[in-house]
Amino acid sequence: MPDISRDSDVILEVRKLQKYFPIHKGVTRRVVGHVKAVDGVDLFVRAGETLGVVGESGCGKTTLGRCIIRLLSPTAGQILYRSQNDGVVDLAGKTMRELKPYRREIQMIFQDPFSSLNSRMTVQEIVSEPLTVNKIGSGRENRENVAELLEQVGLSRHYLDRYPHEFSGGQRQRIGIARALSVQPRIVVCDEPVSALDVSVQAQVINLLKELQSERGFTYVFIAHDLSVIEHISDRVAVLYLGKVVELADVNHLYDQPLHPYTEALLAAIPSPDPDVKLDRNLLLTGNVPSPANPPSGCTFHPRCRYRTEQCAQEVPQLQVADGSDDHFIACHRYRELSLKPSPKHELAIGRAT
Ligand code: SF4
Repeated sequence: MPDISRDSDVILEVRKLQKYFPIHKGVTRRVVGHVKAVDGVDLFVRAGETLGVVGESGCGKTTLGRCIIRLLSPTAGQILYRSQNDGVVDLAGKTMRELKPYRREIQMIFQDPFSSLNSRMTVQEIVSEPLTVNKIGSGRENRENVAELLEQVGLSRHYLDRYPHEFSGGQRQRIGIARALSVQPRIVVCDEPVSALDVSVQAQVINLLKELQSERGFTYVFIAHDLSVIEHISDRVAVLYLGKVVELADVNHLYDQPLHPYTEALLAAIPSPDPDVKLDRNLLLTGNVPSPANPPSGCTFHPRCRYRTEQCAQEVPQLQVADGSDDHFIACHRYRELSLKPSPKHELAIGRAT
């Protein structure tokens, strides 16, 4: 895997990241176990690209995103970030005070545009809050900055004094995007930013994010459970299962030549708008994601994997570069012998709506 200290195009590298939440019991609240939401994640992000992070609910995507922006403190591991002024720094080990210089460089767009905006604040107050917190600009300058930001995200500057309840879901998400961009971040972690929106509005917001990226050179970590959305926006994709990356590859390689059975199953479940294209039911996932408080032994995907062997239940497969590739990473004992099905070719729902 590329090393941030040697590869100058890598802006973020996550190494062996863990986030465990303690499970308490009884009046003494003794710790009886841990929910292993993120359990040894390795990945890297190149400057200016979009890394999609995909997986079912409960796979640790949101916890990973919150650790990266340090809304959560990791249990172990490293979050190595190439900062603007201080070279490579490990955000995982920093205190809240030490994180301050880097806060504005990494921002987040949240999933739910209905609850992520404070209903008692005006649009001007919401969007300028990061500027105020980071002591950037004066009140009058910031009002003009916010007005320009609103226009850049496709909203009228006349909305400055309105409140969130006066806007539709798509407009609220645009306000959330303007808020995240107000401090000119270098990395934006987008946590399911369109999953609460209608399909037609999803496409508009995704296209806005892509336009802003090409104008300003942002790096995105884009978290989603919808593989159509991920394919539409990502340059590379990390597939997460029970708190671990099981496959990491260029988006075209991943969709055309998946190497992990979990990826194959996720791709097989993408619905096609063509009624003649039937889902391959043999490939679809059965059962639910096991509890991260009590993950299965060996390969944690083995209880749901149609290709499992005895080895799979006993030995943990390590994420490694696939044979014959230098940027396709895979954690499966049997990837060399399996010939998995690519994503069915069809027009993407998100693409149709643009
Ligand atoms: Fe399936 Fe075994 Fe590969 Fe895990 S290691 S994905 S159980 S074949």
